[in-house]
Amino acid sequence: MSGSIVLFGPPGAGKGTQASIIVEITGKPQVSTGDMLRDAVARGTNLGAKAQNFMSQGLLVPDEIIIGLIEERLKSSDASDGVLFDGFPRTIPQAEALADITNVSAVISIEVPDEDIIERIVGRRMDPQTGEIFHITFRPPPSEISHRLIQRKDDTEETVRQRLSSYHKQTKPLGDWYQNLGLLIPVDGTGQIEEVRKSVAIAVSEL
Ligand code: AMP
Repeated sequence: MSGSIVLFGPPGAGKGTQASIIVEITGKPQVSTGDMLRDAVARGTNLGAKAQNFMSQGLLVPDEIIIGLIEERLKSSDASDGVLFDGFPRTIPQAEALADITNVSAVISIEVPDEDIIERIVGRRMDPQTGEIFHITFRPPPSEISHRLIQRKDDTEETVRQRLSSYHKQTKPLGDWYQNLGLLIPVDGTGQIEEVRKSVAIAVSEL
């Protein structure tokens, strides 16, 4: 399938976790703006320094910074047949900029109600060696690696509430925008990881 796929949904919906099955099926590389920004912060770049203030408060990073990052990333040769966007676009101006540079063929929307989000995010842990995401209750890590798992700085309850508020104000309207374009494919994200994985796989196979 040509064109890019967008993984859409609130923070904590499981976008990062479910991205792997889409990469497996389509062979498209995953492009996560959150991962790119965290990498820039860790490397201490100018862009990282600008982004960090917004990220630590649970606010969206300004559109021009994000669009610049994406324009650069899409110049790589591995992006020529489209990519899997994870966490991008998050605003209508970002989606408009994206439409000018690449063709979006589908938007997989992982739907999870607000009341589930806080518990999901606050229990989330990541393996810094592999990037794999676990959850202290829903996806416990193997005991031999649990000592090295880390928690994202913005995965605290207070920041999650702000991230949810940013999502409702700025990102959710984008879901309607993509629905009007006939691109939105809703997937129930409330079940077990494996069940959601199957639903995502079916949705992608039907594209
Ligand atoms: P994520 O890992 O996708 O949850 O992103 C973590 C944080 O990075 C978000 O809370 C935002 O502060 C920032 N961020 C990531 N992607 C975007 C985006 N497309 N637009 C604006 N801010 C973003």
